[in-house]
Amino acid sequence: MSIQKHSRRIEGLDKNVWVEFTQLAADYCVVNLGQGFPDFSPPNFVKEAYIRAINGGLNQYTRAFGHPPLVKILAKFFGKLLKQDIDPLNEVLVTTGAYQALFCFFQALIDDGDEVIIIEPYFDCYEPMVRMAAGQPVFISLHPKPVSGRLMTSADWVLDPVELANKFNKCTKAIVINTPNNPLGKVLSREELQVIAELCIKHNVLCISDEVYEWLVYDDNEHVRIASMPGMWERTVTVGSAGKSFSATGWKIGWAIGHKDIIKHMQTVHQNSIYHCTTGAQQAVAEGFEREFEHLGAPESYFFGLRKELQLKRDQLAACLVSVGLKPVIPEGGYFLIADISEVDVDLPESTETKQPYDYRFVKWLAINKGLATIPVSAFYSSNSKKRLENFIRFCFVKEDTTLSKAEEILQEWSRRRKTQ
Ligand code: PMP
Ligand code: GLN
Repeated sequence: MSIQKHSRRIEGLDKNVWVEFTQLAADYCVVNLGQGFPDFSPPNFVKEAYIRAINGGLNQYTRAFGHPPLVKILAKFFGKLLKQDIDPLNEVLVTTGAYQALFCFFQALIDDGDEVIIIEPYFDCYEPMVRMAAGQPVFISLHPKPVSGRLMTSADWVLDPVELANKFNKCTKAIVINTPNNPLGKVLSREELQVIAELCIKHNVLCISDEVYEWLVYDDNEHVRIASMPGMWERTVTVGSAGKSFSATGWKIGWAIGHKDIIKHMQTVHQNSIYHCTTGAQQAVAEGFEREFEHLGAPESYFFGLRKELQLKRDQLAACLVSVGLKPVIPEGGYFLIADISEVDVDLPESTETKQPYDYRFVKWLAINKGLATIPVSAFYSSNSKKRLENFIRFCFVKEDTTLSKAEEILQEWSRRRKTQ
């Protein structure tokens, strides 16, 4: 046997949509509405705090499980939102982005054969992370309800409570939820969360709640934290991201908040893998949260302002997509919008890569021929569901208005050409 043979735990996990499509965007695209990152700068108050931190000497290791000022303010901030006393030293873990919080959770809590329920569409890394922990992902899809006379919204994609209840059994160890959801933008309502919470309690199951887009909830929608519901604090890990909160995805600071009996196991994985995260960035994020705490819910709050701005961008992009014949699903939250491409007639070349779903081929064609980067939505589905969901592509709207206008020009020009052909 070859000495380079990979471990069994990474079998079949070598493909990654971000690696593939970020390269495609770099190679061909003038306008990038693909990978989710803002093309504008983070607010000055966190950038200046980062520079001060480095110039002030915060360049060495800090506490392994989180820089003290950061865990303290996160405990205070989320303690207020969750109406829960949070112990900063034992119930908050600072991680290298939300990614590492998720990774620590699965490595620390999932054993061979444990089942983990994942709601489709899902942020793609949940599945490989469960598999790397030797767990068994169990998928359940949100079902789109047909609508007439109006655009579909992410609220029209619903869970069937009976189907969900049937996914729980004695092997179920955890359920992953993501609200607001990437890629759909669905915000789970209090009633939907109540159904999930009751099942978790009934079957003694953990909940990992990925809330990285927690501040970005539009219209009259409300972000409800499942950890704040009765009986859920002791079984929920809430995951957040400074990258999303402060428009600084490259800083890679995230966190996990939960009961100390769960967080202590995640600390074990953390201390034996990355040990600790960038000190200066943690200090800057701590100062950012201190500022936000003062302005919580007020117009001066960065979170508040970003939400208002993004709602306008969402509406601008949706209107543009409608005008060129794509059918957007209006997101209730987050910074992505998915659109149905089935009514756009494109003469796609046959794929040389066998069995590529239609949306993958469409996105490649759009990038190479029109210079516009997007992401295929079937990347957010398990292999058995991909074929059913190959008619949607995802657009990211956390972009400068000039970028969105350039995307609009590309789409309008393409639409005019289609009409004259
Ligand atoms: N969860 C979701 C739903 C995401 O969209 C992302 C994307 N960044 C992450 C987790 C990872 O966040 P981070 O960049 O903080 O690692
Ligand atoms: N979360 C971002 C997205 O969905 C980026 C993910 C990544 O680049 N790995 O686009």
